[in-house]
Amino acid sequence: MKYAEVQNCIGGAFVSPDAPLLDVHDPSSGRLISRVPLSSRREVDAAVIAAQAAFPAWSGTPIKERVQVLYRYKALLEKHIDELSALVTEENGKIASEARAEVLKSAELTEFACSLPQIVTGEVLEVSRGVECRVERFPVGIVAAITPFNFPNMVPNWSIPNAIALGNCMILKPSELVPLSARRIVELLLEAGLPPGVLQVVHGGRDAVEAICDHPGIAAVSFVGSTKVAQIVYRRATSSLKRCLALGGAKNHLIVMPDAAKEMTSSNVVASMSGCAGQRCMAASVMVAVSKTDDIIERMVEHAKKIVPGKDIGPVISAGAKERIEKYIAEAEAAGAKVLVDGRRAVVKGKENGYFIGPTIIDHVTPDMRIAQEEVFGPVLVIIRAKDIDEALKIENASPYGNAASVFTESGGTARYVMEHASAGMVGVNVGVPVPREPFSFGGWNDSKFGVGDITGRGSIEFWSQAKKMTTKWNKEAGANWMS
Ligand code: NAD
Repeated sequence: MKYAEVQNCIGGAFVSPDAPLLDVHDPSSGRLISRVPLSSRREVDAAVIAAQAAFPAWSGTPIKERVQVLYRYKALLEKHIDELSALVTEENGKIASEARAEVLKSAELTEFACSLPQIVTGEVLEVSRGVECRVERFPVGIVAAITPFNFPNMVPNWSIPNAIALGNCMILKPSELVPLSARRIVELLLEAGLPPGVLQVVHGGRDAVEAICDHPGIAAVSFVGSTKVAQIVYRRATSSLKRCLALGGAKNHLIVMPDAAKEMTSSNVVASMSGCAGQRCMAASVMVAVSKTDDIIERMVEHAKKIVPGKDIGPVISAGAKERIEKYIAEAEAAGAKVLVDGRRAVVKGKENGYFIGPTIIDHVTPDMRIAQEEVFGPVLVIIRAKDIDEALKIENASPYGNAASVFTESGGTARYVMEHASAGMVGVNVGVPVPREPFSFGGWNDSKFGVGDITGRGSIEFWSQAKKMTTKWNKEAGANWMS
């Protein structure tokens, strides 16, 4: 085992809980690399106590001082980028360039948090003679973030920098499939000067998540993961009167019009469906090919066939995920769909036990097929044919998800029409992965997000803080205005 057993971090100290352990595997080889504790209520209780002890001093520190820690943390992310991205590759499987991009994104997220003092300056107005109303933002208290396997470094950094910059103390519950990056995140924050207790890490699965949702000492929970679990967490956390923002799964539709630029469109669509082995909530999943787009599809097939498993595309997360994805492909094929590129028999020399699937493109899928409706979360793109833009939008709108949608076209009018009518929180025009960059916020619609606000950027400020509205009068006037 390359790494020692993963430990929780409570009050700045790394501790091994008395908890059952789960094996952690490198998905590219299947080998055991570490073990992670499956914490329970007891560990969550200890984390809350440590966070409560740190909260008065941290929340009482001016925001301009708090973000000094994050300036140093950003520099440390950049200094250690090779090591951090290698760790992501090892536990998640994504290729080196993708892992590096993930850590760079963490640095950008931290950069936004560093700018919060300039953004949350509050408001003030003289509302009647000598009477002033002002609004200041205060932290929510002890908060938690629960994260998925697909971005072990970036998704924790969606929540941590903004939440702590705004004065909260936090408990991170990383995915038990990828627990290693979390240790380095908290170590670097401590090295950057974060006071012990401002961030705890509690490892585990369902029990730890349920304990977080139920804990009366936790005021807010952010969740990122599948829709099924997002719904469970949202219901459970809000029923114990917490604020909750739960991001779920996705089924992203890319609408390709016949006038789309052939080379750019074909390469972007393939990059979107195959990047990070399709394990991105922003990945292309359905291509709605409008009218005559066969030349673009042919070019996509050429691009996809050039992608080499193990070099250009990493494995999926587990043997179970590989099996599930291959089952979707087989079922679609049996239902009459045509597999244009088949990634099922991918073998990587020297890594025969890795969970590899090559890019897979399936044409003539119909909207009623399971593969057209459910999240596959692998490097699989299905093509549904549509006669015009309205039929394409009808297909996109029918999906219960609503994370991202894109249109590829050279027509401004068509682009605007899709921007208005797509039922998704993030829409792209000629962009395969329309992730908004800071200061814009990340968040979907429909079954891809439960709760109000977004998880990053300006949209997260309301979630991680609360406004205090203050009314003052110091002019000694005797008369009272009935309004103030
Ligand atoms: P997951 O839902 O299985 O797990 C997410 C978290 O929930 C993990 O920390 C896990 O320990 C915990 N968990 C799992 N089962 C639970 C249960 N029954 N009760 C309580 N907690 C439970 O998701 P995953 O497989 O780790 O990640 C992939 C999913 O995340 C995909 O559906 C993907 O679309 C989604 N995702 C969404 C976004 C977004 O922004 N919308 C971003 C990244 C990933």
